[in-house]
Amino acid sequence: MQNPLLSEWAGALELPPFEAIRPEYFRPAFDRVLADHRAEIDAIAENPAAPDFQNTIVALERSGRGLERVAGVFFVLAGADTSDETEAIERDVSPLLARHNNALYLNRALYSRIADLYARRGALSLDAEQARVLERYHTRFVRSGAALDQPAQDRLAAINERLASLGTQFSQNVLSDEKSFAMVLDEGDLAGLPDFAKAAAGAAADERGHPGKYAVTLARSSIETFLQFSSRRDLREKAFQAWIARGENGGVTDNRAPIAEMVALRAERARLLGFANFADYRLDDQMAKTPQAARKLLDDVWARALTKVAVERGALQAMIAEEGGNFALAPHDWRYYTEKLRKARYDLDEAEIKPYFQLEKMIEAAFDTARRLFGLSFEPVDAVLYHPDARAWNVTDVQGRHVALFIGDYFARPSKHSGAWMTSLRDQEKLTGDIRPIVLNVCNFSKPASGEPALLSFDDAHTLFHEFGHGLHGMLSDVTYPLLAGTAVPSDFVELPSQLYEHWLEVPEILQKYALHARTGEPMPKALLDRLLATRTFNQGFATTEYTACALVDLDLHSLPDASALDVATFERKDLERIAMPPEIVMRHRLPHFQHLFSGGGYAAGYYSYMWSEVLDADAFAAFEEAGSAFDPATAKRLHDYVYSAGNRRDPADAYKAFRGRLPTVDALLKKRGLVDAAPSSR
Ligand SMILES: [Zn+2]
Repeated sequence: MQNPLLSEWAGALELPPFEAIRPEYFRPAFDRVLADHRAEIDAIAENPAAPDFQNTIVALERSGRGLERVAGVFFVLAGADTSDETEAIERDVSPLLARHNNALYLNRALYSRIADLYARRGALSLDAEQARVLERYHTRFVRSGAALDQPAQDRLAAINERLASLGTQFSQNVLSDEKSFAMVLDEGDLAGLPDFAKAAAGAAADERGHPGKYAVTLARSSIETFLQFSSRRDLREKAFQAWIARGENGGVTDNRAPIAEMVALRAERARLLGFANFADYRLDDQMAKTPQAARKLLDDVWARALTKVAVERGALQAMIAEEGGNFALAPHDWRYYTEKLRKARYDLDEAEIKPYFQLEKMIEAAFDTARRLFGLSFEPVDAVLYHPDARAWNVTDVQGRHVALFIGDYFARPSKHSGAWMTSLRDQEKLTGDIRPIVLNVCNFSKPASGEPALLSFDDAHTLFHEFGHGLHGMLSDVTYPLLAGTAVPSDFVELPSQLYEHWLEVPEILQKYALHARTGEPMPKALLDRLLATRTFNQGFATTEYTACALVDLDLHSLPDASALDVATFERKDLERIAMPPEIVMRHRLPHFQHLFSGGGYAAGYYSYMWSEVLDADAFAAFEEAGSAFDPATAKRLHDYVYSAGNRRDPADAYKAFRGRLPTVDALLKKRGLVDAAPSSR
């Protein structure tokens, strides 16, 4: 019988045949496509003809299509709808993939062809995009160790395989700790919770086999809501402790040992490649270029955040005193009293706002923004996907041409990893035809009880716009070479399209049109909308501190020249002491569950990227404000041409300059976070 994973994707939508896919097909499919790609690579490396752009770079760009298909489907499932069986395959396959990458990027014969072309690049009559692809291949091979001697390459190969296994183990451990915790409550334990929170907790309990009860889970939408509203300090503490202890519970799912090993291996890899530490190695190929540059930005913001957070803490403590509470503000109190303070100060509470943020309307709002900025239309289509909660839309441009297939998978479930992300089943390219992408957004919003509308928090709505911004970066991609498609840009630039898109959620005309009350259908009253927007810089000391601490600890951890004796818990504690972390705030992601750094390592020494990109996004949105409209067509066109459709066609700093006419300044970011007047605190 033919393995369905090995056939081309047919049907009108060219989707993988999800209905026919079973876990046991993956291992044989991987074996087959890995062997196929290996044969293609060998043929390119051993080609007796002298290297030219066509027989080397283009040949590489055309290779490995079967592998992309199989891996694309597999990792969508492993992230969004996994199972014990899928997890076992993932543990099996991740070192295989690392070994396969080693065979590609440590291939000396192949590298010598690329190096030869790169040395002669000026004489090859390449166009700008071809020159960029060649440069990216050369950099990638050098940074992988293709030019090193055999003993160094052997060691690198072993490190890469081990890192792949550890990354898989890390994320499976986090998921396991998340799945195994649910705080099951009775009606009497729900003091303070608004109706929407009770309903979501009821649905979560149902799903976990406790009908008639209520459950708080460790999905961000669930736990944060509980921490915001529950007046039961004992229960807030219990849930909060479970949340921050993910990956640090002892036993087989404890992540401290895997982290120590990963950090040590990364440091060793960096040394083998000629760098003093992993952060130096990692940032060398980012927009920031050096850890010093990233640190300078973070330190400046950090010092201001500490000033602001001290004021916020004082106000919360005063509120506790006013209520007659005789205790010091603790981390599990912060969100609860912030919510109360927000209500007192702005006459605004989450329970009042939430009915206006219906998931369906927010999806429409994200689509409509894309229509107004980039001329896109979204038509729902019937598609068999991997889970009934996932939905698909056909995306077309003003001329009615097909742009992309977009898949949205919005609700939390036990089989889904936490967080929110954009990914793709197929990337855009023009090398083998006019290939349009298949892009996904995966989120973890609380699923409503059946028949009820799904409601988002304002933060959730931001997440939706954020991931949709990444999605557009993939969907609008207009490059020839797959290597440069869509989001294949440095990670400190990749958050620009996503974070920038969040600004449109806060544009009043979008809110007026789409923030409609779930029961009455009425738009959000102007006064409420004004109050909502007035809170934009409220609690930003907390948000900035919670985030920036993570970015600083990440950089410090990955700047260790030798991490062979690393004690993760001690390191985290001492580093937080060093930066004077306020005791009432816990890192947004503590190391034992910091998936950005350790689930594959996409953001290792790179968590600063969000702040770096925020300098860009704040400055970029200011371009629309200066033009007098959030939808100014000329600005939108430049944004489309130089950012959203441009992939990695040029250096990110050049791309930004082409859009804005200059590099960004930090001013717009400080204004956005309300940190302009926060004089840096001395420490
Ligand atoms: Zn992002």
